[in-house]
Amino acid sequence: MDNYKSGFVTLLGRPNVGKSTLINKLVGEKITITSPVAQTTRNKLKGILTTKIGQIIFVDTPGVHKPHHLLGEILVKNAKSAINGVDVVILVIDSSVEPGRGDEYLKDFLVASKTEFIVVLNKWDLVNKAFKNLRLDQYKKVFRTSKSFQTVSATEGDGCSKLVDIILNFLPKGPMLYEEDTICDQPLDNLLSDLVREQVLINTREEVPHSVAVKIEKIKEIKRNNGKIFTAILATIIVERTSQKAILIGKKGSMLKTIGQTARSNMKKLVNGNVHLELFVKVIPNWRKKESKLIELGYEGDF
Ligand code: GDP
Ligand code: MG
Repeated sequence: MDNYKSGFVTLLGRPNVGKSTLINKLVGEKITITSPVAQTTRNKLKGILTTKIGQIIFVDTPGVHKPHHLLGEILVKNAKSAINGVDVVILVIDSSVEPGRGDEYLKDFLVASKTEFIVVLNKWDLVNKAFKNLRLDQYKKVFRTSKSFQTVSATEGDGCSKLVDIILNFLPKGPMLYEEDTICDQPLDNLLSDLVREQVLINTREEVPHSVAVKIEKIKEIKRNNGKIFTAILATIIVERTSQKAILIGKKGSMLKTIGQTARSNMKKLVNGNVHLELFVKVIPNWRKKESKLIELGYEGDF
């Protein structure tokens, strides 16, 4: 074990480029929430990948939700806190589009702060075959100072094992920091509630914005008479207004059903078995202004 490596890796990049999807793919389980609605990542979350050569601890950065004209400033502000104390910085790019201002901001920042970084061109599956060489060249030009380039598809998995090798190469020698089979530093409750919250955000879009919290009331392993085991999960979706509750429940409960079905299928991957999920919706006016509620719901001073 003398040559074992370990270290912290952070993924920087504009919202929606696929940072969370990539961490999920690399770590191999659905631990961080991803969504076509930008900026759903709540708290800093660590995904852990343990290999024979080293242990990589991925730090997902919380999302940004601010007006577009402030994006550059905010990206840089977030980047500053994200690169603090990490061993490898990965700049994730949506390669299905040409280089833009957001990438330039981050590059300027990385160069100015003398941080070494690796560029990952994600969504490579969306780049037309005929344009692949050109696209790679365009990004190589912008990020001349990058230590390495890797094209990947976080959804398909292409390029991911190569990326792991590259990251391990850059990690310093060090001991295993988490148990071998740990994939995340967050308690199961948080992961489960994020899976419900993710589906709320995906399915309701702007109508029910970020004033939604999910509380896991109960998790219980139950053995059926036929010996089969399943996990029963009881969760409450908390909103601030009755109108939001109505939207969440939907016509004849259709919305809640959709949310529940997808959340449940993602939970099955997480707990590695069958899940019975029961969802309730509860109105707590102004819950976001009540500190005790925030703590109860797992938010740590990010309001
Ligand atoms: P983040 O804001 O950077 O964390 O982005 P997410 O991981 O939440 O991903 C945003 C959206 O891009 C989701 O709808 C993903 O399914 C999609 N996405 C991420 N990676 C890929 C990829 O490699 N290919 C394709 N086609 N879509 C991707
Ligand atoms: Mg994310």
